[in-house]
Amino acid sequence: MKEIYLDYQSAKPVDSRVIEGMTKYFHELFGNPSSLHHVGDVATEALEASRKKIANFINADEDEIIFTSGATEAINLGIIGYALRNKNKGNHIIISEIEHISIHNIAKYLEREGFSVSKVPVDQYGKVNLQKLERRITDQTILISIGIASNEIGTIQPIHEIGELAAEKGIAFHTDAVAGEGLVPIDVRKDNINLMALSSNDLYGPRGVGVMYMQKKFRVNPIIIGGGQERGLRSGSEDIPGIVGMRIAAEIMQKEMDTEVKRFQRYRDRMIKQILEEVPDSHLNGHPTDRLASNAHFRFDGIEGESILLSFKDLGISVSTGSACTSKTLEPSHTLIATGLLHEEAHGSLQLTTGRFNVDDDIDIVLEAVPKVVSRLRELSPIYKTRNG
Ligand code: PMP
Repeated sequence: MKEIYLDYQSAKPVDSRVIEGMTKYFHELFGNPSSLHHVGDVATEALEASRKKIANFINADEDEIIFTSGATEAINLGIIGYALRNKNKGNHIIISEIEHISIHNIAKYLEREGFSVSKVPVDQYGKVNLQKLERRITDQTILISIGIASNEIGTIQPIHEIGELAAEKGIAFHTDAVAGEGLVPIDVRKDNINLMALSSNDLYGPRGVGVMYMQKKFRVNPIIIGGGQERGLRSGSEDIPGIVGMRIAAEIMQKEMDTEVKRFQRYRDRMIKQILEEVPDSHLNGHPTDRLASNAHFRFDGIEGESILLSFKDLGISVSTGSACTSKTLEPSHTLIATGLLHEEAHGSLQLTTGRFNVDDDIDIVLEAVPKVVSRLRELSPIYKTRNG
């Protein structure tokens, strides 16, 4: 049985070209950039060359890049660090209802620390409405944090317009770029992004590495205190092999992204067309066109996402019902609920996300399996049978 992986949004394998480039930094070039000797200098060179390359990938300057241990830490530093640094200017923050769980939990934390947080609702496709966003801005608003795209339903947000609005109102704009990186072009200058989180793994680099981009005149307080690395904003000896890995991953992505995205689009459009045509009472979650090329997200009346996932598991196909970060809870996805779905509708969802190592054959096999699995589960479903006589 061929193993098929269609859950690239949850985790991506590290590209072997990245592993190859990282290897020598574990043993031959193992230095600490804080050391003043030659071995330390070599590590500093690798660190600074990586900073430059990653800055170039998002059209930033190298001194706007802070390396972190991943996206979650970058998001914490960007949002909490900015809020604490600027609390004398105001105590209000705006996020959207469909942000990643880490941002919802940071919002709760900041509320306990005396900040107030508004959540902008989204439409049925998961898009933030700009008028509604503008209406939530007060003279206390210091920060807007809205992700580039949803890691669940794949809807792409009007980032450029949000950045423009924030700049016009003198409010900092933070974006979690994790779901969109490598799939949509990111240009921090063009889109007026002031603070941003990136993860290495979403570029097919190693996990445990990320970046916080911080535009020059924006300042944050550190949340990790120690030896003062990364200009005092992220203490702790730098993970040079990991950072080099992220740099190589970004270089590959810059060269291959256009071609790769076209291939994912082809997979996605085939899956959406064929599943909606062949499976009765099936629906697409997320936006019909403004969606990540890698994302196809469905719901099927009368059946549970978990049972679809387990049936696929038996067939050697790895899929998801939603965010991997929360999928072990029985709560329905906050993103699907925010798009107006009822709990039972949100529970019947299937997320298929493609990536670099998928081939046409994978899509053929999945497309053959979906109608069979759904129809078998519906035969066992008392809810579906009652509804359909
Ligand atoms: N933001 C989004 C949109 C995500 O999907 C994730 C999880 N991959 C994160 C943030 C957190 O990333 P990490 O777990 O790598 O810190």
